[in-house]
Amino acid sequence: MKKTLIALTLAGLAGAAAAYPDKPITIVVPFAAGGPTDKVARDLAVVLAKGLNNQTVIIENVGGAGGTLGAAKVAKAAPDGYTLLLHHIGMATSPALYRKMPYDTLNDFEYIGMVNEVPMTLIGRSTLPANNYAELVKWLEANKGKINLANAGLGAASHLCGLLFQQALKIDMTTVPYKGTAPAMTDLLGGQVDIMCDQTTNTTGQIEAGKVKAFAVTTTKRLTTPALSKLPTLDESGLKGFNVSIWHGMYAPKGTPKAIVDQINTAMRAALKDPEFIKRQEALGAVVVTDNRLSGAEHKKFVEAEIAKWGPAIKAAGQYAD
Ligand code: ASP
Repeated sequence: MKKTLIALTLAGLAGAAAAYPDKPITIVVPFAAGGPTDKVARDLAVVLAKGLNNQTVIIENVGGAGGTLGAAKVAKAAPDGYTLLLHHIGMATSPALYRKMPYDTLNDFEYIGMVNEVPMTLIGRSTLPANNYAELVKWLEANKGKINLANAGLGAASHLCGLLFQQALKIDMTTVPYKGTAPAMTDLLGGQVDIMCDQTTNTTGQIEAGKVKAFAVTTTKRLTTPALSKLPTLDESGLKGFNVSIWHGMYAPKGTPKAIVDQINTAMRAALKDPEFIKRQEALGAVVVTDNRLSGAEHKKFVEAEIAKWGPAIKAAGQYAD
């Protein structure tokens, strides 16, 4: 009797997993709509749905506190596969930036796999008198104490890049935090802030349209995307070793059944092979992940390594933190 009951319960559990998903899935983006993380999530959602019974994949923007508010929401969500998180490098840099984190990065999530890597660009308002990186540095030197640097809050990629940039130049700037770089871009376009580091997924269109001035890329290699290929790297411009590349990964709340995590992983792997998705990402300077970080275990190892890598760099740049 007991055995039959256990067998029935197990069959019930297997049935529940097999039925997943039978209602819309929400991906929390911990930044404002229209920004780089949001753009990746919305593009991904379309192809991901194909591998998830064609269920609707909804994007919920929970911006604020450099991505930690949205990540905390997912850490506390029901572990049933219906609430996921798409987050970037902030997952690894926040622990060094916040005295008290609202979640445990390595223990409060199931790691599903990585999505892409995205370089950043150093851009400025179109009315800045500088037209190239050397002129920008001269302008920054001459305007110490008056420079407004936009970012998406403590822990965001734009914050990390801006922090390292200030440290490298030894120029303290007034940082202006937003809930994402979409609203920050609006203010940059309006001339309310001076400069910003942001992912190419958000800046390429504005650079192409000549609406912002682009000064450099943050990776050590120049980019091949036509609109960005002429931009020098910060490394070759004098900031030797400057190298910031953003990555995105997918997470579920800790305790999400393995069968469901595996199912999302399978759907992600298929989505990341979608030629249309790859083409769109490449056009925006992003590179879709194809290596072993597509697995949850390797994704987690990579985040651990990133925490170890960025922690000391952030602490060293501490005097420039907000
Ligand atoms: N990725 C941006 C940043 O970290 C935020 C955003 O996606 O809006 O600065």
